[in-house]
Amino acid sequence: MSDKIERVKTLIIGSGPAGYTAAIYAARADLKPVMYTGMEPGGQLTTTTEVDNFPGYPDGIDGPTMMVQLQQQAERFGTEVRIGMITAVEFSKVPGGIHKVIADGEKEIEAETVIISTGASAKYLNIPSEQRLRGGGVSACAVCDGFFYKGQDVAIVGAGDTAAEEASYLANICNKVTMLVRRDEMRASKAMQHRVNSLKNIEVRYNTEVDEVLGDQVVEGLRMVNNKTGEKDEIAITGLFIAIGHKPNTDIFKGQLDMDETGYLITKGKSTKTNLPGVFASGDAQDKEYRQAVTAAGSGCMAALDAERYLAEIGSVEETVAGQYKI
Ligand code: NDP
Repeated sequence: MSDKIERVKTLIIGSGPAGYTAAIYAARADLKPVMYTGMEPGGQLTTTTEVDNFPGYPDGIDGPTMMVQLQQQAERFGTEVRIGMITAVEFSKVPGGIHKVIADGEKEIEAETVIISTGASAKYLNIPSEQRLRGGGVSACAVCDGFFYKGQDVAIVGAGDTAAEEASYLANICNKVTMLVRRDEMRASKAMQHRVNSLKNIEVRYNTEVDEVLGDQVVEGLRMVNNKTGEKDEIAITGLFIAIGHKPNTDIFKGQLDMDETGYLITKGKSTKTNLPGVFASGDAQDKEYRQAVTAAGSGCMAALDAERYLAEIGSVEETVAGQYKI
């Protein structure tokens, strides 16, 4: 073995709620986890202002603070958190095999188990006014941020199940929701479309796209364009929600791990097991349905327990009873 190669028991890739929860459990089980944070340490929650729906925070907590606290909790039990990227992987296909990964394009690491918690990234329109006002009224998560627009007029872009669900959610909180659909029909299921159409304070505008988000520091309005007629129209809004899909951050696993047609990792049954022994997936990288911090955290816990059981099975650690690990 070259002295450049490091061997770890559990490597955690990604640092959102799933990754940190996996780290807390793995560290308490004495698996000495090493975590690579990725390009956005703390994950998607660091782009959110207030988190009001994570149990245990009666007054809410801002996303970045929550992630710092999760990091401190993971480090308290011995997780080594490294700011960096895993840039390539070569997973073993056999039980007990060693998984090889490259960190930051140069450092070789050998891991007995790998927990993937690389998350997903919300897609944006990528027009300048939208990018400038992210955090100033432009959000990609109605469930996270909708509450701040209580009683106000907002708009949402998208026509899939997420957009339909989020439009309905917003309609319960806000005064009026304008939904921009770029084609002459929605992609969302008929049931979801029915829900949208039954809510009186949602106005669906078909063949309509965002021309410009208006406002200097915060969102004040929206200029829309009809892509059939070229006609432009402006409305006053305080919040714009983008719901045009998410992209799981799983590109580096292509060809090695089973994933669905949109790149979400496939896990076995209720477990976090992937198709390869010793490789586990948690959080949004394997969940396109729930995508909440608390569900990601739950699956991170499961991944650490699955990793520990796997290491016990291959004889790498002594078996312990779940939840009764020594500190
Ligand atoms: P989808 O990929 O299903 O839909 C994305 C939507 O955004 C499409 O309507 C698409 O338009 C639109 N869109 C994409 N790019 C742009 C753009 N640049 N400008 C305007 N509109 C754009 O993503 P979802 O997040 O909605 O759903 C992902 C998966 O999760 C789906 O399989 C869905 O069924 C599932 N899901 C299920 C739920 C449930 O069952 N309760 C809830 C939420 C999600 P177009 O149609 O023209 O391509």
